[in-house]
Amino acid sequence: MVEASEEVYSSLQFKYRFKGELLRAGDDGYEMARAVWNGMTVRSPGLIARCVDVADVQSAIRAATQADLLTAIRCGGHSLAGFSTCDGLVIDLSRMREVAVDAEARRARFAGGCLLGSVDVATQKAGLVFPSGVVSHTGASGLILGGGTGWLTRRFGLSCDNVEQFTLVTADSSLVRASAKENPDLFWALRGGGGNFGVVTEFQVRLYPMTAVVLAEGLSADIRPLLECWRDFMAEAPHDLKWNINLCLAPHKEKVPVEHRGRPVASSSLIWTGEPEAGRPYLKRALALCSPASVSSKVISFLHLQTMADSDFPHGRRYYTKSGYFSNLDDSSIDRLVQAADTIPSPDTIIELAYLGGRAGQIAALETAFGDRSAPFVFTLLANWAEASADADNIAWVRGLFSQLRPAMKPGVYVNFMSGDEQDRVPEAYRERWDRMVTVKSHYDPNNFFRLNQNVRPQRPT
Ligand SMILES: Cc1cc2nc3c(=O)[nH]c(=O)nc-3n(C[C@H](O)[C@H](O)[C@H](O)COP(=O)(O)OP(=O)(O)OC[C@H]3O[C@@H](n4cnc5c(N)ncnc54)[C@H](O)[C@@H]3O)c2cc1C
Repeated sequence: MVEASEEVYSSLQFKYRFKGELLRAGDDGYEMARAVWNGMTVRSPGLIARCVDVADVQSAIRAATQADLLTAIRCGGHSLAGFSTCDGLVIDLSRMREVAVDAEARRARFAGGCLLGSVDVATQKAGLVFPSGVVSHTGASGLILGGGTGWLTRRFGLSCDNVEQFTLVTADSSLVRASAKENPDLFWALRGGGGNFGVVTEFQVRLYPMTAVVLAEGLSADIRPLLECWRDFMAEAPHDLKWNINLCLAPHKEKVPVEHRGRPVASSSLIWTGEPEAGRPYLKRALALCSPASVSSKVISFLHLQTMADSDFPHGRRYYTKSGYFSNLDDSSIDRLVQAADTIPSPDTIIELAYLGGRAGQIAALETAFGDRSAPFVFTLLANWAEASADADNIAWVRGLFSQLRPAMKPGVYVNFMSGDEQDRVPEAYRERWDRMVTVKSHYDPNNFFRLNQNVRPQRPT
């Protein structure tokens, strides 16, 4: 690997005249550049190639394929599975963050290294939004390519549902466009298929007018009735309403009623995206089971919404996750979730429950590569802790609870919420879309150059 990295370094420097930065161990900035968000993943890349434009990306892919060097692609570095680093080459897109907004056409084009925050800030200048995720330091590329769920999913669909065109560099270093008209199979596969097909250098997306939403929050120590209410309520709820629940240990914060602090609670966050007055009865009903002293409701700016969870998921901590879907949250699954809340091992660990449906659920199952849209309950265990000495306990808790709940779950998983040890679940993520995924992969990446991802193996690997 070291020799191959040096070969790539030399050819990028002298043969391809790489314009960005090339970082090797010992160089200034290398230590910062090699760190990724999940502190569980530590690698020593032989070379980090910080591209500044499409030609740099093409050169890096050409040099790495010639040297047969293991290569990771990095946008925001937030892969829960730790895929955006390796001991070979890292193609780092963090210097490619341009965003261009066409306010009249309600459309944006942005580069493959953008964070969600870069897109939000630029689109809000025109009073427009792109539906994406809930933490602004997440990379836009990884999130959109896997699907992309967030506060606006029920109203406007997944992030990938709102992409009109991808521009990408494929494994043979060609620059290719994918849209409904051009390379439609690739366009289909890129909407949910992750980083399997090439390095996306530009997204062209649809935008929607919005500058503020209503945020309502509340805590409930009586978890069972709250989950029952959520299950029944969301089935009929308007698309303007998103209601997420975290089962967690209530934080020791001033706004949390004293009797709840440090105890298992259901923490509800609701977003209403329509006219505030029209949302009032829904929010009131949803929060009726929360402890009155914990309930709040206010209008917040879209940029506040998009950054309010940023500090809850800091870089460098240790994270492990498992996720899946329920089609129906039956009473015995609710019982298990209530029991699970009592076993949460650390103050920052959460059991996340989200209800998909809405616009995302109206798009036909086979229209994009994205996994199941029909099972509305998305369930994610996210363990979050600080010390390596606690790795085994946290990982064991996630695995143990997941295997208890698994029999009641619907097969399927969202690829962006998977860990790095779940390669066996990748076909499960795509299910009836699997064969078409393999066909597109075999065409665009027959040697599986792009394999550090929830990998779809091509038919004829060499
Ligand atoms: C704090 C946090 C909050 C999150 N919130 C949400 C959320 O609200 N909604 C949601 O849907 N998901 C969410 N996720 C999951 C998130 O979608 C994935 O972790 C995603 O991979 C992050 O993208 P990234 O660009 O930062 O990742 P990176 O680690 O940079 O990349 C991940 C993978 O994506 C691929 N990739 C990245 N850039 C490119 C590119 N330009 N071209 C081709 N392939 C590329 C590569 O395969 C790479 O291994 C969250 C994750 C974290 C850590």
